[in-house]
Amino acid sequence: MKVLDGKVVSKHLRVQLKAQIAEAQSERGRPPGLAVILVGEDPASQVYVGGKIKACKEVGIRSFEFRESASISKEALKKRIEGLNADPEVDGILVQLPLPKNLDAKEVLSWISPLKDADCLTPENLGLLWAGHPRTKPCTPAGVMEILKYYEIPVSGARATVVGRSEIVGKPMSLMLLEANATVTTCHSKTINMREILLESDIVVAAAGRPLLLGKEDFKKDAVIVDVGMHRDQGKLCGDVRFNELEGHVAAATPVPGGVGPMTITMLLINTFTLFH
Ligand code: NAP
Repeated sequence: MKVLDGKVVSKHLRVQLKAQIAEAQSERGRPPGLAVILVGEDPASQVYVGGKIKACKEVGIRSFEFRESASISKEALKKRIEGLNADPEVDGILVQLPLPKNLDAKEVLSWISPLKDADCLTPENLGLLWAGHPRTKPCTPAGVMEILKYYEIPVSGARATVVGRSEIVGKPMSLMLLEANATVTTCHSKTINMREILLESDIVVAAAGRPLLLGKEDFKKDAVIVDVGMHRDQGKLCGDVRFNELEGHVAAATPVPGGVGPMTITMLLINTFTLFH
C-alpha cells in the first residue's frame, strides 16, 4: 500500500509558493497579508490558528492575528471584518470556525469581502466554483485534489465516492472530483447500503466526521482512500478510517495525522497568494 503523505506534497507546494511570493513581493513592494480572526478560547482552534500563522511565516506571507473574546458583540465583530475588508495590506481574511454559539457562522462569513475570502466560504465564491470559474477553492477538498495529482492517481473515469456533504468539505469535494471527470457519488447519514456503493468505488474520500467509521471490509481491493476525518481518541489523533487494516488490501491511503491536514493549511496559503495577485 502506498502511503499518500500530505507532508511531502505540502512541502513541495510550499517551496514553489515561497519562490513565487518572493518574486511577486519585489514587484509589488509588499508581501501578501492574511488576517486570522479567532473568537473564543476553543483549544483545538488555538492550535489550528497557531499552525496557520507559523505556515504564513514559512512562505513569506505577513499574518495579522486577532484574538477576540467569546462574548464579542455581533456589531464589534462586523466592524473588525469591515476594517480588514478596507485594509490595503490585507489580501485574505480567515475567521476560524467553529464560532461560539451566540454567533451565526453563515452571517459572519457573509461579512467578508469575496475578494478577500481566503477559505472560499462566501456565497459568491462558492457560486463561482459551481459555475466553473473559481476565484479561490475551499482548502480541504482542494488539498485532496493536490494529493491525488502529486501521486498521479487516475481520477478521470474513476468511480469516486465522497462520504459527507458538508458545505466546506463534502459538497465541494464531490464537485471537484466531478470537474476532474470522475463519476461521483455523494453519501451522507441517510444513504442506504453505503457499503455497497463504497465497494464499487475506485476512490473514496471519507469526510463523515465519525471516528474510525470505515475499514477494510468497506473498500474494494486496490481502491485509493483519502481520509479527511480528524478526531482525538484517548489523546491520539485518528481519522474516519481504520488505517491499520488497509495494508495489503487497498492501493493507497492517506494517514491521520500527516495526510489531508497539512494540505488544508497549504491551500490556505495558496488562496491568499491568489487573492494578492
Ligand atoms: P460535518 O459538517 O459534521 O459533516 C459530516 C457529513 O458526514 C454530513 O454530511 C453527514 O451527513 C455525514 N455523515 C455523518 N455520519 C455519517 C455516516 N455514519 N455515514 C455517512 N455519512 C455520514 O463535518 P465536516 O466539517 O465536513 O468535517 C468532516 C470531518 O473532517 C471532521 O472529522 C472534521 O474534523 C474533518 N476536517 C478535517 C480537515 C483537515 O484539514 N484535515 C478540515 C475540515 C474538516 P448529513 O448531511 O446527512 O448529516
